[in-house]
Amino acid sequence: MRLEQEAKQFMERRGMSTITATEYQQKASETAIFPKEKALEYITLGLTGEAGEIANKVKKLIRDGADKETLEQKKIEIGYEIGDVLWYCAMLAKEVGMNLGHVMENNINKLHSRKERGTISGSGDNR
Ligand SMILES: [Mg+2]
Repeated sequence: MRLEQEAKQFMERRGMSTITATEYQQKASETAIFPKEKALEYITLGLTGEAGEIANKVKKLIRDGADKETLEQKKIEIGYEIGDVLWYCAMLAKEVGMNLGHVMENNINKLHSRKERGTISGSGDNR
């Protein structure tokens, strides 16, 4: 706990966000309003919808192009859409009974293991 507090103070001094994945997941779930009997379907559709919003913004950048100022604004908009995707990821993790921080940690460990073993390229869940 002391180490966690020191890490938070370190980040606060540098103007960095200090919210943890667990805190985010808990706070996000306070805003979850959907039929619980259809939670898995609702969350999955929402996640793909928000990912689609990002794809659409990027598609329009390709189609329309952007000057430097517009590009910076679009990047900010995409960043906020990432937040919407994250909300659904947090809710999906909760729905399948997993802590968001655990999901993140498991994922990064998996990817580093693949990198160390030279198996990042290729396909299949169990590389
Ligand atoms: Mg959105």
